[in-house]
Amino acid sequence: MALPTHARIIIVGGGIAGCSTAYHLSLMGERDVLLLEQGKLTCGTTWHAAGLVGQMRPIRNMTQMSRYGIGLYSKLEAETGLATGWKQCGSVNVAATPERMQVLRKQASLARSFGVEVEVIGAQRAGELYPLLRTDDLEGALWIPGDGKANPADLTMSLAKGARNRGVKVLEDIEVTGVLTENGRATGVRTAQGDVRCEILVNCAGQWARQFGRLAGVNVPLYSAEHFYIVTDRIEGVHPMLPVMRDPDGRIYYKEEVGGLVMGGFEPQAKPWKVDPIPSTFQFQLLGEDWDQFEPLMTAAIHRTPCLETARVKMLLNGPESFTPDGNFILGEAPELRHYFVAAGFNSAGIANAGGAGRLMAEWIIGGEAPGDLWDVDIRRFAPFMANRKALSERTGETLGLHYAMRWPRQELETARPLRTSPLYDLLADKGAVFGSKNGWERANCFSPAGAPPAVHGLGRPRWLDWVIEEQRATREAVALYDQTSFSKLLLQGRDAIDVLQRLCANEVDVPVDKMVYTAMLNERGGFESDLTIIRQAHDRFLIVTGSAQTTRDMNWIARHIDPSEHAFVTDVSAMFSVLSVMGPKARELLARVSPDDLSPESLKFSHTREIDVGFARVRAARMSYVGGPGFELYVPIEMTRHVYLALMAAGEELGIRDAGYYALDALRIEAGRRAWGAEIGPDETPFEAGLGHAVKLDKPADFIGKAALLKAQGQPLRKKLVSVVLDSAAHHAWGGEALSIDGEPVGELSSVGWSPKAGACVGLGYVRGDAALRLHSGTHVAIDLWGEAVSAAAWDTWPPRP
Ligand SMILES: Cc1cc2nc3c(=O)[nH]c(=O)nc-3n(C[C@H](O)[C@H](O)[C@H](O)COP(=O)(O)OP(=O)(O)OC[C@H]3O[C@@H](n4cnc5c(N)ncnc54)[C@H](O)[C@@H]3O)c2cc1C
Repeated sequence: MALPTHARIIIVGGGIAGCSTAYHLSLMGERDVLLLEQGKLTCGTTWHAAGLVGQMRPIRNMTQMSRYGIGLYSKLEAETGLATGWKQCGSVNVAATPERMQVLRKQASLARSFGVEVEVIGAQRAGELYPLLRTDDLEGALWIPGDGKANPADLTMSLAKGARNRGVKVLEDIEVTGVLTENGRATGVRTAQGDVRCEILVNCAGQWARQFGRLAGVNVPLYSAEHFYIVTDRIEGVHPMLPVMRDPDGRIYYKEEVGGLVMGGFEPQAKPWKVDPIPSTFQFQLLGEDWDQFEPLMTAAIHRTPCLETARVKMLLNGPESFTPDGNFILGEAPELRHYFVAAGFNSAGIANAGGAGRLMAEWIIGGEAPGDLWDVDIRRFAPFMANRKALSERTGETLGLHYAMRWPRQELETARPLRTSPLYDLLADKGAVFGSKNGWERANCFSPAGAPPAVHGLGRPRWLDWVIEEQRATREAVALYDQTSFSKLLLQGRDAIDVLQRLCANEVDVPVDKMVYTAMLNERGGFESDLTIIRQAHDRFLIVTGSAQTTRDMNWIARHIDPSEHAFVTDVSAMFSVLSVMGPKARELLARVSPDDLSPESLKFSHTREIDVGFARVRAARMSYVGGPGFELYVPIEMTRHVYLALMAAGEELGIRDAGYYALDALRIEAGRRAWGAEIGPDETPFEAGLGHAVKLDKPADFIGKAALLKAQGQPLRKKLVSVVLDSAAHHAWGGEALSIDGEPVGELSSVGWSPKAGACVGLGYVRGDAALRLHSGTHVAIDLWGEAVSAAAWDTWPPRP
């Protein structure tokens, strides 16, 4: 078949991701689709994958994606006539420690709430389902009957056939060597055989996606690691319907293949594959055996399945696969280039997930908007600095190993840190700050008192809670200082800036100069693309303050909605200002000691801002509090931050000022019922569902994105409802992500949880879905699934209940 000169959509890469995207585009009616592969289909990573296909993912939308994939794989052969090797053999996930069993129980209750059939079973039953298993040291297991396995190459060929049958052109042996662009849009590709123009380009280039992205200035932060499994000869008792088995404590997995076993895993310290660029000729190739690297997995496997001690190993397969900085894959339209989409970085789960991911990509491409809340995998979660190859390589060494590792609540990634630091970093470190990382920023989570033993990870009440309670006490009773420099800060300027904002924001933002407004930016479905505060600094200048993780996403959302005819320009000024929040009843007294300006409530009303003196510096003070109660946010030029901090600390000593961190901040905002984007609010939640209808002005003169959807939703029963959930007992410590049930029926999940001094117990926020949301009244008894134990709590519309 000759290379055409034009195709509406070009897909680069003929692995499972490219073929699934092509399949789904054709299923949705796109006929003019061209898939280009530099070698033969599957020749990259797909051909040598093990082929385990599981459906349990930690969040609802991702689980739905995986479940869809399984449904597709089970019927694809009937559609295309090409075998996929799909077998619904089920999977057994075992636990060798009590903590792992607790985690599995939590996963099971969440999975059930997402609609997955899963059974918590004892060690003996695990042994019956998987007779090769050593069970005497097991705590128990999960049995997921709907899981299975497939032959990755056959499955991909079957997807490609389905796509071809509906008109997709698939051309092999064509390497794309360049990307054509015009006016910030992808418009075609360059190949040795000629240029091909297109309207939409999709980068499905697997581990080549980063270097291919670079051709067009698109950041696809992934990096390859060597990845291993063994293949054995036939073993007695191993049959085609033997379940898939995972032993995460041993970091290993198993699958039957031709009467023998495929056993692989995720060693604690992975081996990045430092080849840059990866040659286009790396086709149907493998890397050399490395038994030293595989040794911890082999030892664990011989322990868990003693038959491996004597089984003949036919080969140790070592194939590279790409991993991302947070272990999640990369989907969506690139923020750097319109009409350029990416589906890559599958972190060793591409076979299981490409079926669903291909559908999401097709919906995204055709619909022009993410089809739901895909923030966990959205390419816009990455900032440009994440292209750094040293950081990527070190992080890949870590994230591969985390695949099966015990993930403790609030556990932080360790590599490629510290990177972005506030001017206070060293000062806070000296004062015992325990740092976490968000979007590369080091942020104090809490402060450990001098001489205190370090906090260790666990599932119960954390050691740091006592330290955090002191920070909370200072916030509620005196004054605490939070370094929130990591906030994303965007400056929107120009004659038409106000028109742009009015169109993007659901609240009235045409406010007097110096006023601050809390508002949502909504998508066409009425869901939150972001929530933000805006300070009008001049009639044509607005400082937009959003969450630390959302810089790229919000910049992109605003920039893409500025019409070329409009005079409005958005700039990321995050690194120009720090934000020091002084919170608590003595905050005003503190500022009075360092500033001659009048900050009385009459002079500076809530949600207003003003330039003031602090020490020798000039800062912008905003009367605003996220934690609830009185407080001020100070926007400080970055070079004066140290000075302002020291002045505040010296003046605050007598007032009992205390440094406080993000654990306290988060817990207090939950107690105060404040929502956080990415937790309680996101693209799938409307302001009505989130209880934030007050921040929407449906009657403002300007039309805004999402208004039509909200008008439609107004007066309709809510699909879900956000509630505060207060645990009955102080003895239980919840973390967020737990399933909620009423009378044994799953009704939703907790999105965030923190310790509340006011309740003397943990308080959470979470959605109750469907009919249960309509039946709920304040004080309804609910159960929280805490590591498998039903813990009693009460759900409230607002908490504390209004008298
Ligand atoms: C040892 C091992 C075991 C695994 N086991 C499992 C498993 O059990 N379950 C599971 O779900 N996943 C597993 N995986 C992961 C899975 O294999 C990958 O996630 C998946 O194959 C990635 O598919 P892809 O389409 O993104 O990439 P690829 O299959 O690599 O496809 C990308 C294609 O793009 C082509 N390409 C690149 N650049 C260009 C260009 N410039 N022009 C034209 N073409 C280009 C390449 O030639 C390649 O064919 C495993 C991986 C490994 C290494």
